[in-house]
Amino acid sequence: MKIKPRLGGGKSGDPSLYIDIVDRKRAILFDCGLNNFRPAALHKVTDVFISHTHIDHFIGFDALLRLNLTEEKIIHVYGPPGICRNVIGKLQGYTWNICQNLRLIIVVHEILPETIVVTSLESWRGFEIKQTEEQPHTDLLLDTGEFSVKYLELDHKTPCFGYTFLEAESCNVRKEALEELGLQPGPWAGQLKAQAFPTADQDAVIQIDGMNYSLDELARKLLVRKPGVKITYLTDFLLHEADIARIIEFTRYSDFLFCEAAFIEHEREKARLTHHLTAREAGILAHGAQVKQLVLFHFSRRYQDHALMLDEARQEFPWVE
Ligand SMILES: [Zn+2]
Ligand SMILES: [Zn+2]
Repeated sequence: MKIKPRLGGGKSGDPSLYIDIVDRKRAILFDCGLNNFRPAALHKVTDVFISHTHIDHFIGFDALLRLNLTEEKIIHVYGPPGICRNVIGKLQGYTWNICQNLRLIIVVHEILPETIVVTSLESWRGFEIKQTEEQPHTDLLLDTGEFSVKYLELDHKTPCFGYTFLEAESCNVRKEALEELGLQPGPWAGQLKAQAFPTADQDAVIQIDGMNYSLDELARKLLVRKPGVKITYLTDFLLHEADIARIIEFTRYSDFLFCEAAFIEHEREKARLTHHLTAREAGILAHGAQVKQLVLFHFSRRYQDHALMLDEARQEFPWVE
């Protein structure tokens, strides 16, 4: 898959991370603050994962709703305890007496400590609650087979969820091996990947140009495993010493860690009071989790000079943007 993450509010605007799954005509959002995403981008959104419902993380939900109302689609909204009340509160802020042409369904997944409450709301019924069901609790909120999303609870004086997106492992055909075997690329390569990954049936056979080959043997010679892209999003939390190990575990080997850095160490007290992170702490987490790239955001507007936060994080971890 081709995956492109981008922030919708820049470094000091409201948090929203758009993960575009380019070749699947699908996108997911981590948080939904005021953002600069185009309507076409918001049309692609199928799943929204909300960290917490402070206004700067949730106000953009209205634009998402507005743009998708007449689309025949489902938008799933996931979030911490209270998310269902928050979504319904937004919907009840509008009048829905003429709604017969609306098509959107919103399904809210409220993650409680021991269960997940799933509530369906249909636009053409004025978003009256259609049904509510309880599912067993899991930290794996979404698994499409091609990618998955997990959450981790953080402390922001209210439960605040961090999220991680993980593309499933896939495989590529090694060109050199293809030449060594004297094979020409063709549709059979797709068939090989589909049938032989992650494991091949020992007795299965694949036909190429009229010749039979052992699927398992060909897979072992030709295919190379490609790890999936991992993107972790952590925002709005106090870093308790006791939580560091579990946050690092959750974030480990991310290709991108999008992490808030509201304050600099010099103003650590302000960070403590508002349950936010400092840039140095973001750097420590990135270093501990051995991520490839740390992307800082949610800078307090008090800092005109973004280099303050970027340089501070770089003292702990080199690859910061
Ligand atoms: Zn907040
Ligand atoms: Zn915030």
